[in-house]
Amino acid sequence: MIKIGIFGGTFDPVHLAHLRTAIELREALGLDSVNMVPCHKPSHRGTPGATTSQRMRMLELSLKDVEGLHIDGREAERDAPSYTVDTLGSYRDEYPDASLLLFMGMDAFNGFCGWHRWQQILELAHLVVVDRPGSRLDGVELQLFKERQVDALSQLQEIAGSIVLQSVTQFDVSATQIRQLVSQNRNIDYLVTAEVRRYITEQGLYVEPDSQS
Ligand code: ATP
Repeated sequence: MIKIGIFGGTFDPVHLAHLRTAIELREALGLDSVNMVPCHKPSHRGTPGATTSQRMRMLELSLKDVEGLHIDGREAERDAPSYTVDTLGSYRDEYPDASLLLFMGMDAFNGFCGWHRWQQILELAHLVVVDRPGSRLDGVELQLFKERQVDALSQLQEIAGSIVLQSVTQFDVSATQIRQLVSQNRNIDYLVTAEVRRYITEQGLYVEPDSQS
């Protein structure tokens, strides 16, 4: 069975925790590919600091030499709020028999039962939840996790519907922190790739408006 990882996010900007998570999950779960899917208009938050095409470009710069990781522009091309359920529906149309695995950090999973048509998401894909510093399983999602949990991907017989908790290297980094550091004119080396750091500087991203002149 083909196994495809799908990693959605704002990626404003893509940082080392996103990249290591994608690489480590692909290896650990033996996935055929991992597709990083930047959202165009996040349904759950304000307008990103970088445009969709700038966020896509930073992903391109980060992934160009990494085997098995791809950028998927399907949400970026849709001029409407990005709903994960629609994205997964389009994957399912393309790959009717594949196992689809939706990646998310634990902070994102903790809000999962508030997502648009979340029950349908679980009909379309498995969830792979990774630890994130400062987050622990909580609330209604903890209950959902207990109901749907499997210990390892090898136990997944179906193409969707289960939840796997997978450990990855922990990095206490967020895109918010990176945007703040840039706005304070501080160093972001090793939080993003060198090419992304250069791109952020060239494009003047995340700089406070009154410090641009
Ligand atoms: P922001 O600070 O702007 O909210 P972010 O760093 O959380 O951004 P997103 O693009 O919103 O990054 O996240 C995409 C996905 O990556 C989410 O599922 C999120 O939980 C996960 N993720 C982001 N950073 C980490 C991290 N340090 N460890 C584990 N998962 C992470």
